[in-house]
Formats: sequence, structure tokens, C-alpha cells
Amino acid sequence: MNMKKNISLLGLIASSIASYVAVADNALEPWQQAQKTEVWSPVPKIVSVNANHVPSDATILFDGTDLSSWETLKGGTVSWAVTDDYFTVNPGMGDIKTKQSFCDVQLHFEWKTPTNVSGMKGQQRNNSGIFFQQRYEIQILDSYQNETYANGQVGSVYKQTIPLVNAMKPTGEWQTYDIIYTAPRFNEEKLITPGYVTLLHNGVLAQNHVEIQGKTEWIGAPSYKKHGCAPLQLQDHGNLVSFRNVWLRELNSINGQ
Ligand code: MG
Repeated sequence: MNMKKNISLLGLIASSIASYVAVADNALEPWQQAQKTEVWSPVPKIVSVNANHVPSDATILFDGTDLSSWETLKGGTVSWAVTDDYFTVNPGMGDIKTKQSFCDVQLHFEWKTPTNVSGMKGQQRNNSGIFFQQRYEIQILDSYQNETYANGQVGSVYKQTIPLVNAMKPTGEWQTYDIIYTAPRFNEEKLITPGYVTLLHNGVLAQNHVEIQGKTEWIGAPSYKKHGCAPLQLQDHGNLVSFRNVWLRELNSINGQ
């Protein structure tokens, strides 16, 4: 049998099987046909949410009592004040970081800035920031009726990406940040995939899976340098910015980092 005959025979068999399957499918009840596209595993794990909207699988970084999950950049005890159910930057004492390192996370926290803003404007009006992996800053700033450069206002990926909206509540009110952060991936020294960030500010989408261009820089262009999982860092910019209800969920781990 030559090659041509072989191919046509195979074609005949294939079309016969296809029409047989079609006939067989038509013989099924609709619910039986529907079953063919059902996927039953893996079964998502059960996560419950408490009265304060904290997921049961969250890592609590501040529950209103103490800063035991945090340390100074040199590893010392944090001297930021804890008042009622929140804590406040101790101006001049420096940034703080989590004791634990993280890669991809879903992060939630609430923050507020002082109501007395006399003589304060632009970047000086109660500035802080959250740094993912101690490198990539999402800006925290009182941007309520306070003009500054757009890629440095509240919700910006600082000096990189302007937020889609300014969802600030009035000065002094608690603001919420919900952030989905995907860490950059490296192979040897080479960047394989950049970091990405999505931010909901007071429930409003402000950054939508935005590519992080590299380490946050005040002066000059950002760039990447290989690193592994690293702590979250909160900025002491010399202002009395307060935080509460800080938790995150680790989304996955990265081999070798
Ligand atoms: Mg800042």
C-alpha cells in the first residue's frame, strides 16, 4: 500500500470515529453532555473571613496590639507608637520592616494622615509608603486636594506609574489599600519576568496589573537587580502617618529565592 492510500485510509478512520462520537454525544441527555466539561479537582481550599474581614489563612502583621512582627532596618525593636488599635510612624526613627520575608502576596492595610496640614503641601503633606521586597514603593500620601506630580501622588507606583484614579477620602479619615503583588523572577542575574502590582484604594481600582520597572528611585531611572523574597518595608518620611489592620496572604513561593 502506498503512502497516499495510507493517508486516505487514516482519514476515513478518523472521520468515522468523529461521526461515531458525534452520534454517541447526540444520544446523550443534555445534562450528560454538560458533564463532559465539568472539572472537579483540584478543590479550592476553604477560607473563611472573620467579622473584621480578615481571611482565615492570612498572616497577621498588626492586629491592634503590638509591633512584634516588625523590626528596624538594623533588626532592632521598633519604637513607633501603638495607640488604641493603630500604630504611627515615629518621625526620624527610620523605616521599619517585617521580620518575615515574602514574595507574591495579597496585602491589606488601612492608613490615615493627620488633619492638621497647615504649611504642608505636595510631597511634604504626610508622606509614607509601602515597599514590596524592600524595593518597590506604592506611595502613601495625603493627596486630598493636594497637588503634586502625578506619578508621586497617592496610589502611584512611585516615580513609575500614575494611578488610574485619586480615590482619597478626606484628610484624617481611614483609607484602605488592597494590593496584589507579583514578585519579579530572575534566572541567574537575568530578569525573566518583571514584578506586577494591582492596587485597590478604598475599593477603587487604582493600578491594574501594572508592570514594575525596577527598584524605586527618587533620582534617575529604575532598574532591576536580582534578589530573593524579602520583607515588606514601611517608610518613615518624617510624618505622623498611622496604620491598622495589616495582614497579607502569601500567594505562592518561588523556588530558590
Ligand atoms: Mg513615600
